[in-house]
Amino acid sequence: MENNLKKASCIVLSILILLFFTKENNCENAFYKNIKLINNPNDLLVLVNKNNQLSNNYIPNNLESISLKFANKDKYLQKEAKEAFEKLSNEANKLGYYIIAVSAYRDYNYQNELFNYYVTEKGLEYALTCSAKPGHSEHQTGLAVDVEGENKDYDNFEDTKEFIWMKNNAHRFGFILRYPKGKEHITGFKYEPWHYRYVGIETATKIFKQNITLEEYLNS
Ligand SMILES: [Zn+2]
Repeated sequence: MENNLKKASCIVLSILILLFFTKENNCENAFYKNIKLINNPNDLLVLVNKNNQLSNNYIPNNLESISLKFANKDKYLQKEAKEAFEKLSNEANKLGYYIIAVSAYRDYNYQNELFNYYVTEKGLEYALTCSAKPGHSEHQTGLAVDVEGENKDYDNFEDTKEFIWMKNNAHRFGFILRYPKGKEHITGFKYEPWHYRYVGIETATKIFKQNITLEEYLNS
């Protein structure tokens, strides 16, 4: 009797262990695995995420600084994205909204330092939740921008009237909310109300209307 009980416990335990590892492989831990080196870094729709990495020497060749009317310091974006962002910010301004860039292009080395800073200060697990490993940050493309609104606190951008406006209008200027709530299992990144990615008006409008992510758009 006792032997049978032991056997049964053993089987249950084995099944649980098996389920655990299957889940691990299918879920979050698929991120940062089977990493592909990006071969179209200059493509407007380039996909940079935890499975697609930019090389350490990739620098966009058309970076331009955002006017200080629309950025808190010297910040750079690719020409087309920069012009679109200035247009967005300018139009928002006329309507009484305050939307400025607080982070835009970041090079590989800067991202490396940023990631390592979080690892040293808060540990690897925390670093992985709030920062991308170097080569995996969309900011290296020069097509992504973090913004802040009236409360001048990008971390709490969601609480601003500017966020509501961005949510409904960013696509008209070619930007998408890149890491939406509830899509973390697809993007690999936590919800970031402040992070917008330039993809051009046509694509941004499709992504907005279908309420999907860039990953889903490129896979459809
Ligand atoms: Zn960002």
